[in-house]
Amino acid sequence: MLVVMKNDATETQVQAVIKVIKKLGYRGVPMPGAQRTAVCIIGNQGPVEDSQLLAMDGVKETITVTKPYKLVSRETHLESTVISVGDVKIGAGEPVIMAGPCAVESEAQALTIADIVKKYGAKIFRGGAFKPRTSPYSFQGLGEEGLRILGKVREETGLLIVTEATDHANLDIVEKYADIIQIGARNMQNYSLLRLAGQASKPVLLKRGFAATIDELLMAAEYIMSEGNTRVILCERGIRTFSDNTRNTLDLSAIPSIKEASHLPIVVDPSHAVGRREYVVPLAKGAIAVGADGLLVEVHHDPAHALSDGVQSLYPQQFQQLMEEIARLKSK
Ligand code: PEP
Ligand code: MN
Repeated sequence: MLVVMKNDATETQVQAVIKVIKKLGYRGVPMPGAQRTAVCIIGNQGPVEDSQLLAMDGVKETITVTKPYKLVSRETHLESTVISVGDVKIGAGEPVIMAGPCAVESEAQALTIADIVKKYGAKIFRGGAFKPRTSPYSFQGLGEEGLRILGKVREETGLLIVTEATDHANLDIVEKYADIIQIGARNMQNYSLLRLAGQASKPVLLKRGFAATIDELLMAAEYIMSEGNTRVILCERGIRTFSDNTRNTLDLSAIPSIKEASHLPIVVDPSHAVGRREYVVPLAKGAIAVGADGLLVEVHHDPAHALSDGVQSLYPQQFQQLMEEIARLKSK
């Protein structure tokens, strides 16, 4: 249930509502909006008796939230959420481009690619220090040394950093170095990791699991938000289907349906969706055309020698072309 406060309700009145919700045995989470604040009730298993709340000063009305995800739902937060990271705003209308290698391989590699993606307009550098690999024998990432390199990239280029935390053991250290903590597709339903990310002070980029429905993705985001971290960015990265011409199938229909169901920003990762660099640019353009708030793209200066995902990494010139084509799309 949502307790909608009057436009002129005071902070004291909002706090009083939260207190009563607590006495009723639930949690009240304030959701400030452009016009007015609402308080979302979470933790109830069934309908909430609202007569006491309706009688309180500053309360306008109560609304039943029909979706199982409350904090994530547009029912509780009408305006689209804009997430500020440094001076970058995600969800504000201008697509935000996050680009870089699949994995951080060395300081020279990371800095070379960072210079390239920055030159063509990326605002956020991506690169895994901890890599979730299908095979235990594949390159697993440089670990903490990779994070140190990412710190250097930020220092030297001013780019913000998004990098993945793969389990409990590395979430703290990733939080220390990253501007955005990535939770990968394989961990979308790792509920204890989601809860931990919900306690972090940095925004979270939550990737859709490759066999997850949109409702399951939104419930995963609810885990993070219910712990207090309201800065969640969703990411569509392709799902597994019977179609085997690409690594996964990019579900572009997820973008408008998530926009309808949720106020959270959503970005698209065309690289992991298609798995081949030839298809990345057209699908990235498609993603922007259907309303994605940004892209997460793999770029490598020497993909033939990349330690992971070289086949789907764009050459620098292809990344330049992508940025030019996106700029053209915007001017149309
Ligand atoms: C990644 O972006 O580095 C990654 C591993 O992606 P996903 O979790 O979508 O497979
Ligand atoms: Mn990759």
